[in-house]
Amino acid sequence: MSGEAFQVVSPRDRSVLATLPVQGDGEVRQAVATARAAQAGWARRTPAERARHMRHLAEVLSREGEALAAQVRAETGKPLTEALAEVVVSVDLIRYYARVAPRYLHPKTVSTGWMVSKGGAVEREPYGVIGAITPWNYPLILALDSITPALFAGNGVVIKPSEFTPLTTMALPAILESAGIPAGLVQVVTGDGSTGRSLIQGGVDRVVFTGSTATGRKVMATAAEGLTPVTLELGGKDPAIVLEDADLERAARGVVFGGFFNAGQTCISVERVYVVGSVYDDFVSRVQELASTLRAGVDDACDVGPMITEPQMAIVKAQVANALAMGARALTGGAAPEGEGRVFPPTVLVDVTEEMDILTEETFGPVLPIVAVENEDEAVRRANATGYGLFASVWTRNRRRGLAVARRLRAGGVSINDVLSHYGVASLPMGGVGKSGFGRRRGLDALEDMTRSKTIFTDRSGLKREPFWFPYTPASTRLMRGVLEWRGRGGVSGVAGLLRHILGRKEA
Ligand code: NDP
Repeated sequence: MSGEAFQVVSPRDRSVLATLPVQGDGEVRQAVATARAAQAGWARRTPAERARHMRHLAEVLSREGEALAAQVRAETGKPLTEALAEVVVSVDLIRYYARVAPRYLHPKTVSTGWMVSKGGAVEREPYGVIGAITPWNYPLILALDSITPALFAGNGVVIKPSEFTPLTTMALPAILESAGIPAGLVQVVTGDGSTGRSLIQGGVDRVVFTGSTATGRKVMATAAEGLTPVTLELGGKDPAIVLEDADLERAARGVVFGGFFNAGQTCISVERVYVVGSVYDDFVSRVQELASTLRAGVDDACDVGPMITEPQMAIVKAQVANALAMGARALTGGAAPEGEGRVFPPTVLVDVTEEMDILTEETFGPVLPIVAVENEDEAVRRANATGYGLFASVWTRNRRRGLAVARRLRAGGVSINDVLSHYGVASLPMGGVGKSGFGRRRGLDALEDMTRSKTIFTDRSGLKREPFWFPYTPASTRLMRGVLEWRGRGGVSGVAGLLRHILGRKEA
């Protein structure tokens, strides 16, 4: 609640990193007003000018990369390599938009079809101020995923980072300013869900929410009060499908990486694996061997870091314990060591069934449930059965088969023989279907999301009166009939029909 304070606590050693205010309606409205004042001038700059500043931002971010990664690592506990990956992907994202945004945002002439004496154009204009709400798992890239296309498009941004990891986001306005981006254009407000709610109600022109499905529902309901458009990037239960003709070594390594990267706290992490029966044993033993070599912990030499938040640790513990109680077997991991630590060991589960949450609800932790299936059809059917649809992967040596399976999967995207890496390709849109939300980040889709189309329609005839304006006469009725025939038949015979009507040589 407004007026209160909250602490940001290190997931590695529980030290208090900062104490921050929970900002309420008044502070949030002020932040929106400040961003709006700066946005007016920013939107007047041409897309090419904005891109010049943003290119500079990429340079500054790259220069500050180590410091930013250290900040990400401090508040998430993730291994340094993973923290640096956030910076890499962010810098590349900005460079991508610097390349494509000016052309995309340039007004486009559009054919006016049969209205030959008219000119049509479509311009893309910014919404104004975007309200961004972000989760705790990737504090840098998820903030910049929202901020970057918004700024290229000419918007201001007020962002509410997760109360668990707000510090990296809070460092961004100063970095943006040092790159020449106007002061005030990007505002950060701190707090919990109540601050997020205040932001949605605080006069923003569009909301971009990244977070859980449950909160996404609330966000949409709040946004509906003001008819504020929303983009919802929500949770996932991403399946990996391993077919009998897969390169099992690559598939096993890929699935282990996709399941345990960032300790599984990735919206597009592999959350369940369906393996065709004939290769199941071989695949499982490879995964088990690989997973058991991973070092989980909080020091610099670890592969798998801690769970970032206490509530998420509790969810993972409960889902795994329930699965084990219902008959699942843990081939690695299975329970956190006794004590206060936040490290959950990489866990490979077999003998899992759909009665268990571990196979149907988002886990968001380092857990890989593996299921044997009879064939490709069963794998696809089960993969499509959760209601989530963020991403998926298919593993097969036959790329054509992989593509055919990809097309049958209900998901915002599918990797063939790969996992997670697509997020490093800024031109690829990213988003979900069903319980995973709607709208797209990244790629040209995000620029579309961050702008409204505006139609410009110009008369070029110079006539005093259009033939179909008042007063209506028999000639205007004949004209309508003629156009109806022309548009219906098309081609030369259509034009001939139009002329016959206009000249009064054809009765309806
Ligand atoms: P939450 O949904 O709990 O929170 C997301 C953000 O919303 C936080 O800033 C949170 O604030 C805020 N919030 C909470 N309640 C409200 C409310 N009523 N109105 C407005 N804002 C609110 O998600 P997590 O932070 O736990 O993040 C994990 C989730 O994010 C997972 O489900 C994951 O799959 C998803 N995710 C999706 C991605 C995608 O691209 N599809 C990418 C990354 C993550 P606070 O934390 O301060 O309470």
